[in-house]
Amino acid sequence: MTDSGTSAFAEVNQKIAQAGEILNLKSGVISALSSCEREVVISIPLRRGDDVEVLTGYRVQHSSARGPRKGGIRFHQDVDLDEVRALASLMTWKTALIDVPFGGAKGGVAVDASKLSPIEKEEIIRRWTRSLVHVLGHHRDIPAPDMGTDAQSMAWLMDEFHRLEGFQPACVTGKPVELFGAPGREEATGRGVAQIAAATLLKHDVKVEGATVAIQGFGNVGRYAALVCQGLGMKVIAISDVSGGIVDRKGIDVQAIFMHKSLEHVEADERIGAGEVLEIKCDVLIPAALGGVINESNSSRINADFIIEGANQPITIAADRELRAQGVVIVPDILANSGGVMGSYFEWTQNIQEFSWPIEKFRSELDSRMEKAFNNVHETSKKYSVDLRTAAFIVSVERVAKAFDLRGSLV
Ligand code: NAD
Repeated sequence: MTDSGTSAFAEVNQKIAQAGEILNLKSGVISALSSCEREVVISIPLRRGDDVEVLTGYRVQHSSARGPRKGGIRFHQDVDLDEVRALASLMTWKTALIDVPFGGAKGGVAVDASKLSPIEKEEIIRRWTRSLVHVLGHHRDIPAPDMGTDAQSMAWLMDEFHRLEGFQPACVTGKPVELFGAPGREEATGRGVAQIAAATLLKHDVKVEGATVAIQGFGNVGRYAALVCQGLGMKVIAISDVSGGIVDRKGIDVQAIFMHKSLEHVEADERIGAGEVLEIKCDVLIPAALGGVINESNSSRINADFIIEGANQPITIAADRELRAQGVVIVPDILANSGGVMGSYFEWTQNIQEFSWPIEKFRSELDSRMEKAFNNVHETSKKYSVDLRTAAFIVSVERVAKAFDLRGSLV
């Protein structure tokens, strides 16, 4: 739920409607673009000692207008159908924005991933795959990792899929490099976030070298964003994960802490709470953990000039409005964290071609395509005199609406 009690999915649909109105789309088309093509809810019985706990799993396919549906699988205790719908819809707009031939989908299981043993995690992923295999496949719907899942989870998913359907490594992305994964995919989301942060600073005549950065989340997205920001010359002064945050105003040595699974036992100048990192005074704030963390309760205390959305929907619509009124520049999730699905596209194409790229090619393709998407959003924001989020939705809604129309879905 968001500030005003509207749902996360309703917030995404508000953005689609706003873009649709600017583009003069018919109201029926806006309704179609705001609906999910298919939603599957499954139960997953999990062995617990000599008893069974029944978990709920989801796969929501939002759109296939521009290609097979694409989106991650989240393991988190707060996962519900509304959140999965919102995330599936965001994938449609993200893949359209960066112009890759995918639609949008998302999956999840309502479970606390931190409390699962590896065997339990494997059992859940295999059951999820068996229950959904009829709607998955490299030309139907291609999962990837998200919060609480990783490359190992994708290896189990691929193995289960192969048992049922035969060899098809492109059925899932974000796999380990040793098992049809692409070198560069693991870092791709964080790398893209950091590149977009640097491009945003430059666009506003702020020096990248020495710019201060605070990051919430030290998982896949947060830790690579931190590493690449540091590599680009920025100074990462605060990072937090679920266990709390660390601060060092001289700059945290990200390389030195990179391999720590948790920040709990990392030595630091100063310790803060997991949410306090959002209120640190800095040039660039990167929320890279949960959705809805910047809302009406804390937006007035945000102390950053630029927010780059590493997480999906980290800012509620009300907080977004207030922050922009304060002059904060916000780069929206569908642009800022799109490096992940861009990297997944590279992995998917390499799997289909049974050919593998060197990491340098992966990185240079990623950087140049991210730059192109960034410039397109900036130009669109100028053309329509709108903020970056609205501009990103204008670009993507126009592309999906065009594909929808050309395919004859209106007949
Ligand atoms: P992850 O599971 O690898 O890491 C999540 C991190 O968030 C962990 O460090 C965890 O400790 C931290 N966290 C959880 N609750 C927290 C709290 N209350 N306060 C502070 N930190 C907290 O997940 P991820 O893959 O890095 O995904 C993070 C976000 O980025 C999600 O919103 C996800 O949808 C989005 N995203 C991920 C990818 C990807 O490729 N992995 C791509 C696009 C978007």
